[in-house]
Amino acid sequence: MIITIDGPAGTGKSTVSRAVAQRLGFDFLDTGAMYRAVGVEAMRRGVDLDDQPALGEVAAACTVDFDWSVQPPGVLLNGRNVDHLLRSAAATHAASKIAVVPAVRQRMVELQRRIGRQRPNLVTEGRDQGSVVFPDAELKVYLDATPQERARRRTRQLQQRGEQADEREILEQIIIRDRRDSTRAAAPLTVPDGAVVIDTTPLTEEQVIQMVVDLANQRRRMGRGQ
Ligand code: C5P
Repeated sequence: MIITIDGPAGTGKSTVSRAVAQRLGFDFLDTGAMYRAVGVEAMRRGVDLDDQPALGEVAAACTVDFDWSVQPPGVLLNGRNVDHLLRSAAATHAASKIAVVPAVRQRMVELQRRIGRQRPNLVTEGRDQGSVVFPDAELKVYLDATPQERARRRTRQLQQRGEQADEREILEQIIIRDRRDSTRAAAPLTVPDGAVVIDTTPLTEEQVIQMVVDLANQRRRMGRGQ
């Protein structure tokens, strides 16, 4: 069973997807981490983030894989674990820039579908998982929340980690990133056909996790004809 969880940044997608996978005993695929890894490779090579052909070449030349022996799976860029490099502001920016390049997306979609074949019980999280990569998934979920609430959550998260965070600046970045993700020509962020939309603004993470687990169990029963 494949469960896709899409939606903009700051909706709790990662935490929810991870927890749902754990409770169902499924594998968890963080597709944003794959774009981040290619972004890291582009920065390493000093490639201009507006040079689309060069970015396509970077994606074609590098390998992005996962170490499934750890939870959550480790991200391997050219065979080396790069987890510690993926969450910086620079990697976040680079990921969102390279994600507009069709050749980069094509390569990521190919890798993601291959992972779907190899790991058939999968919770996969991203922006295009239900709309493009796995349109026939048994359960498609789209998580949303107001930009203000998402900025508030992100600020709290950074502060809890002891990092500096300016909520106004974070809100501005969220709005810019949303615009780039939803207006790009290649696989824009959109609600997939047949997806269950959950507005997480008034909900706790635990409530969202439980809703998705309940939906998955319902679909599993339906699949078994019960
Ligand atoms: O989810 P995360 O913030 O890690 O994603 C990083 C960036 O990768 C996003 O801003 C988005 O532009 C891109 N992305 C994407 N398609 C996906 C996952 C992520 O375009 N399936």
